[in-house]
Amino acid sequence: MVAKGLKDYANEKGLKVSDGIAYGVIGGYMVTLKEGYGIKEISVSGAFTDESARKVTEFFQTQGAKKEYRVASFSLMREGIIFEITDTIGTMKVIKAFLEFLPNFLRQNGVLGDGFCTACGNQIEAADASRIVLINGMAHRVHDGCSGSLMERANVEQARHETEEKNLGKGVLGAVLGALLGGLVWAVAYYIGYFFAIIGALIGFLAVKGYEKLGGKVCKAKMPIILIATLFGAIFGQFVGDVATIMVAWECSLVDAIFSFFYLFQDPEYADFVSGFCVDLALGSLFAILGAIGVLKKTSKENKGAALSTKILE
Ligand SMILES: [Zn+2]
Repeated sequence: MVAKGLKDYANEKGLKVSDGIAYGVIGGYMVTLKEGYGIKEISVSGAFTDESARKVTEFFQTQGAKKEYRVASFSLMREGIIFEITDTIGTMKVIKAFLEFLPNFLRQNGVLGDGFCTACGNQIEAADASRIVLINGMAHRVHDGCSGSLMERANVEQARHETEEKNLGKGVLGAVLGALLGGLVWAVAYYIGYFFAIIGALIGFLAVKGYEKLGGKVCKAKMPIILIATLFGAIFGQFVGDVATIMVAWECSLVDAIFSFFYLFQDPEYADFVSGFCVDLALGSLFAILGAIGVLKKTSKENKGAALSTKILE
């Protein structure tokens, strides 16, 4: 998506707006601009050598540079660099200043800009036919003959990524194990009488970490899997906590305690116990879900760019 601020700037600089992005050459570099959640994204296509990548990375790791251009994060690849600019009041002014500065800075550090093919690294002569391809949200100018190979490379990457995605089973296992671990903490807290609903957030956190640690991949199913595992962990935690309490209070066996637990649920005399159980579970689950979503939001940013997509723009 391109909102008004970027659109006006695109018009001013003669950039094209299509496919939810603005792209074109600024200061000798192919630049792609787009909106994100609370950020604006600036991608600059350019061939980086190890040396230039090191210098540019060093510069943008300094607090001064980050602050001046509101760089929330950046990622550098062989084919270009992506900046996420924190979007608050006056962002367009910052972006304008940044794009005044950036092309010269990249040139000084030996980054090859527009005029060099991103696919093969050779110069694109005036007589050469060239194309602009959109790869993973970044526009690149390449030789006509190179566009095929570059897109193929990107598609192979994507295919590889998609086969990795199929590995959902491990992710499910990881999420459940993580949630159960969090559930045990919940159970202990419940048992010793130090239960706070915020412990639920730990379940959500561990479910996400479990999913990711065991190699569950980024896909649409990730969120529902983690949320279900989280709820499961919360119910498990509270159930174990209550059963343990019953075991100790009534000095009975585990099996008897489990039966008693279900018995209490049916006995109107223990309505207070049931309502207490429900309130704690509801509050804890709420925190668990919020915790999971919080971590997911944070990691989804890191995983963005994992899925490649290609398209010929011109
Ligand atoms: Zn080429």
